[in-house]
Amino acid sequence: MGKVIIVGGGAAGMMASIWAARGGHKALLLEKNEKLGKKIYITGKGRCNLTNACETEELFKQALRGSKFLYSAFYSFTNKQVIAFFESHGLATKTERGERVFPRSDHSSDVIRTLQQILRKEKVEVRLHTQVKEILTEQSEKRRISGVRLTDKTTLEADAVIIATGGCSYASTGSDGDGYRFAEELGHTVTELRPSLVPLEAAEPWIKDLQGLSLRNVKVRIRKEKKVLYEDFGEMLFTHYGVSGPLILSASGIVNDYMDRMPLAMEIDLKPALTREQLDKRILRDFEENRNRQFKNAVGKLFPAKLIPVILMLSGICPDKKVNEITREERMQFAKLIKAFPVTLTSFRDFNEAIITRGGVSLREVNPSTMESKLVQGLYFAGETLDLDALTGGFNLQIAWSTGYLAGSSIP
Ligand SMILES: Cc1cc2nc3c(=O)[nH]c(=O)nc-3n(C[C@H](O)[C@H](O)[C@H](O)COP(=O)(O)OP(=O)(O)OC[C@H]3O[C@@H](n4cnc5c(N)ncnc54)[C@H](O)[C@@H]3O)c2cc1C
Repeated sequence: MGKVIIVGGGAAGMMASIWAARGGHKALLLEKNEKLGKKIYITGKGRCNLTNACETEELFKQALRGSKFLYSAFYSFTNKQVIAFFESHGLATKTERGERVFPRSDHSSDVIRTLQQILRKEKVEVRLHTQVKEILTEQSEKRRISGVRLTDKTTLEADAVIIATGGCSYASTGSDGDGYRFAEELGHTVTELRPSLVPLEAAEPWIKDLQGLSLRNVKVRIRKEKKVLYEDFGEMLFTHYGVSGPLILSASGIVNDYMDRMPLAMEIDLKPALTREQLDKRILRDFEENRNRQFKNAVGKLFPAKLIPVILMLSGICPDKKVNEITREERMQFAKLIKAFPVTLTSFRDFNEAIITRGGVSLREVNPSTMESKLVQGLYFAGETLDLDALTGGFNLQIAWSTGYLAGSSIP
C-alpha cells in the first residue's frame, strides 16, 4: 500500500482519489479552496451536465484535441460507466436534448455531495485550505516522486502524486494554472494556453443595441476569406461586446486556431428552414398584406422586435418607403441579408469567461494507458491540466472523470 497525494479537488481529482483508494492506497486529497468541486458547482448553469449518453465512439468525435490519446481513458471508464457510477451511489440522472446527462434534481451540488460521500466511504483523507506549492522529486536511476511542499517548512511524503489542478479558466474557482507551473518545473512541456468555448467580440457598433437578444434555430457560418471554418444550427445570444450562447461557444472551440488571424466573417442565417425562393415568397406575402404601409411597419412578423431597427438599417431600404414602392432588386437584397446577416468577429474573450482552457501538459510526455508522466516516475496527470479539450455537452467532464479514473486506478 503506497501513499498517494492528489493535488486538486475538482472533478478529476475527486475521481482519481476514489480509485486510488479503491486500489488499496492511502489517498490524501489536497484542495486549496474551502470546499471541493467549486467549478463543478457552476457547470451546466448550476445543473452540471455531467456527461453525454451518446455512443461511446461518439466521445472521440467531440474531443477537439487528443482524441487518440483518450482511447484508453474513454474505454476504461466510459460515459455509460460514469452514469452507472453516479446512479449506483444514489445520484439519479436524466438525459436531455443532445443526450446531455444531468442530475435529476437539476442541482450540481448533488454531484459534489455524491462524490464527497464516496470519498468518505473509501476513507480518502481530504485537506481543504491546503495549497501545494511544489512537487518534490528525488533522483535515483530515474527521477521519481518524493512528495509535495505546502510551505517553506512543511512537506508531505508520497510514493505517487496526481496533478489534477485544472486549467486556468474561471480562476475564481481555484484553477489558476498551478499545474502548468508544476509540470514545467518537472521538465514537462506545456503547450500554448488559450481560452476556448468562450464568447467572441464583434466589430459592429450596433451590436450593443442587440444585447440580450437570443436567437433560436439559426444557422451560423464563420469564414476566413472563402474558407468555411464552422457551420451549424442552434441557439446564440448577443451581448454588449459581441456574441455568445451554445452555437458561439462551440464555434470558438473549432475556430480556435484562427485566434491570431482575426477578424473572421460570421453570417447568421435567420431563416435556415427556408430556401432563398421560399423566403422571397414569404416576404412577398408579408409585403402583399402590408402594401400601403411603410417598410418599417411591414416586417414585424419576420423578426424579433429588437432586431428590426438593425435589419432596417442594414437593408439599405428607406424605412419610411411604402412597401408597394420597394423594387424587386431591393427585396432580393433584403432576402440576402436575412440569409446572411453579417457580424465581424474581432477577438476571443479572456480566460475568465472561458468554459475551458485549450492547451496544457503535452500529451507526448504522458502515457495514455496510465496517465503517468514519461519523465518522472510516480507522477500522474488528470483532467484539464492536460492538453485536452472537447465541445460542450458533458464531454469535458467526461474527460475529467475518465482521466481521473485511469490515473487513480493505474497506480501500482
Ligand atoms: C462556467 C462553466 C461551465 C461548465 N459547464 C460544464 C458542463 O456542464 N459540462 C462539462 O462537461 N464541462 C463543463 N465545464 C468544464 C468543466 O467544468 C471542466 O472541464 C472540469 O471541471 C475540469 O475538471 P478538473 O478536475 O480537471 O479541474 P477543476 O474542476 O478546475 O479542478 C481543479 C481543482 O484544483 C484546485 N487547485 C488548483 N491548484 C491547486 C494547488 N496548487 N493546490 C491545491 N489545489 C489546487 C482548484 O482549486 C480546483 O478545485 C464548465 C466550465 C465552466 C467554467
